[in-house]
Amino acid sequence: MDSDYTVGLGNNDIKTRAAANQDSIKFWESQADNLYWFKKWHTALEWNAPFARWFVGGKTNASYNALDVTVQKNPDKKAIIWEGEEGQRRVLTYKDLLIQVSKLANALKRLGVEKGDRVTVYLPMVPELVISLLACARIGAIHTVIFSGFSAKSIRDRVDDSKSKVILTADGGRRRGNIVQLKNVVDEAIQGLDFVEHVIVLEHTCTPVTFTAKDKKWKEFVDSMESSCDAEMLDSTHPLYILYTSGTTGKPKGVLHGTGGYLTHVFATFKWIFDIQNSDVYFCTADIGWVTGHSYVVYGPLMHGATQVMYEGSLDYPTPARIWEMISRYGVTILYTTPTALRMFMKYGDDLPNSNNLSSLRLLGTVGEPINPQVWKWYFKIIGKDKCPIIDTWWQTETGGAMISPLPGLETIPLKPGSAARPVPGVYLSVVDENGNKVPPDSKGYLVIEKPWPGMLLTLWGDDEKYKTVYWSKYKNMYYAGDYAIKDKDRYIWMLGRADDVLKVAGHRLGTAELESSLVSHKAVAEAAVCGIPHEVKGESIITFVVLKDGVSSNLQLKEDLVLHVRKTIGPIATPDQLHFVTKLPKTRSGKIMRRLLKAIAQDEKIGDVSTLEDEASVDEVKAAFAELKQSLEKS
Ligand code: ATP
Ligand code: MG
Repeated sequence: MDSDYTVGLGNNDIKTRAAANQDSIKFWESQADNLYWFKKWHTALEWNAPFARWFVGGKTNASYNALDVTVQKNPDKKAIIWEGEEGQRRVLTYKDLLIQVSKLANALKRLGVEKGDRVTVYLPMVPELVISLLACARIGAIHTVIFSGFSAKSIRDRVDDSKSKVILTADGGRRRGNIVQLKNVVDEAIQGLDFVEHVIVLEHTCTPVTFTAKDKKWKEFVDSMESSCDAEMLDSTHPLYILYTSGTTGKPKGVLHGTGGYLTHVFATFKWIFDIQNSDVYFCTADIGWVTGHSYVVYGPLMHGATQVMYEGSLDYPTPARIWEMISRYGVTILYTTPTALRMFMKYGDDLPNSNNLSSLRLLGTVGEPINPQVWKWYFKIIGKDKCPIIDTWWQTETGGAMISPLPGLETIPLKPGSAARPVPGVYLSVVDENGNKVPPDSKGYLVIEKPWPGMLLTLWGDDEKYKTVYWSKYKNMYYAGDYAIKDKDRYIWMLGRADDVLKVAGHRLGTAELESSLVSHKAVAEAAVCGIPHEVKGESIITFVVLKDGVSSNLQLKEDLVLHVRKTIGPIATPDQLHFVTKLPKTRSGKIMRRLLKAIAQDEKIGDVSTLEDEASVDEVKAAFAELKQSLEKS
């Protein structure tokens, strides 16, 4: 196989994958054995398509697995090294965490929260956010986290959908030097929602807030509780959380996850992907408001007794060197971040990472969007100094844990820049055409998952019908992921973008990632987004948006060069019809490009649900670009 990238992939366990291929259910049972169970399951999988229930009859607890298991062996092991945006620091050991979690669990019980009740968590990235999830899990309450950047309206919709009895929040949170008034936002969001009985407010920024009859102060109320609380013995199939998807393709969906299957998937993949060792210092930059934070900040690392860095604020604040300084300060060994963050770091240039000591790093992960090969190579060379493998992990809120990824903790396979490599053991997926037939190697198609897997969602909260329609109606007996992909002749998967966004140009189908990666491979380009709009002759015309690197200025010549560059790297079929320079792209608050907005604006249509949009100014800029184009066309 043609690859220069095999570094750092030390392990060569051929038994695990072989065992999975022999009997995948038995294999997942052997992985479930690595968790702590109060009572063993009697049935590994109940599959009433499309509803999967894993390890039925088993009793376990997520909080027990994340805390007690390590406290019994190594209570003083550091769990969280937290850094605030202003440089404050807190270190919590596993024992500290267990005490805090127990207190909050007791507090929730005192407020009448029972097994199965929903608790909304709207907190900044502080240790109490981790504590909140684990306290809910300890007593069998279902946590539903809302990213702390969301507006009152977005919170209201989600709280109303989940019918949460209690909300955990803070006076404020810090972001880019500003204070976000979280408590005020909650007050506005829950006006008239009588089923919300209590709000617990953490004093974090110490900004003044108005207290109402529903409110309790965290310090007074929670800190006075007993410091031990038995973990409930919960059914393996008991719901652990509801989490709304990022909303890249439309209105967010309330994904419901169970306990035993989910934890098994997260435990196994965390080990395989990150090859976690006792001495590691792990740093995942995702907010716990997203699934990556649930699986690979909270449950995965803690179940393995890992030490991790948790950071409150923006990665480029107060200077773009912040992230590199933190890596050097704490001796981070494993970094897990997103392509969108990497493109931002790249935009700032190589001097910053080059002038910080990054020698502790040994593994570099990425998740959330396709990683452009150019960005992959930059990550490998400039951050990893040619010695750290790049672990591109493909998965979704719905899958619970990683599904496609290189696995340094398991096997040595060469890496290919831009590909997430192969499915994890016990996960079976294919690339198929419109009719559900497998396409030949190296052909484009839709990604489907062929067998149930343990991290799979239970359903969409309160909406089994929608669950069936969204994921199980396009193909018979196959989970439709909604992503466009290629499986190459070495069985490596290449993600090409969202199925909804595929462009059809003169009979050819082009994934957005193909076009965007071509643009990003040009030295002047930091980021790019592409969408297609109807064209009478060729089906669709290609509209592109480009953000230039710092210090590069836009001009007509560059525009022509970029169009030519795409034409040269992909072919004449891919020649962009329009190319607009913008300073930022519309993104979700989780950092994903919202191409559906570009498409709607380009066609003068309503832009639909924008509750997860990060910055409205980006939409205005795109609108202005089209208005300008229209004007110049009218003139000519
Ligand atoms: P919604 O479903 O509401 O549109 P979303 O799909 O953005 O939101 P998530 O579950 O956070 O919500 O994101 C999962 C999606 O992110 C995947 O379906 C895929 O499109 C993209 N993705 C995640 N990781 C990768 C990766 N490593 N490579 C390519 N794409 C990825
Ligand atoms: Mg999705």
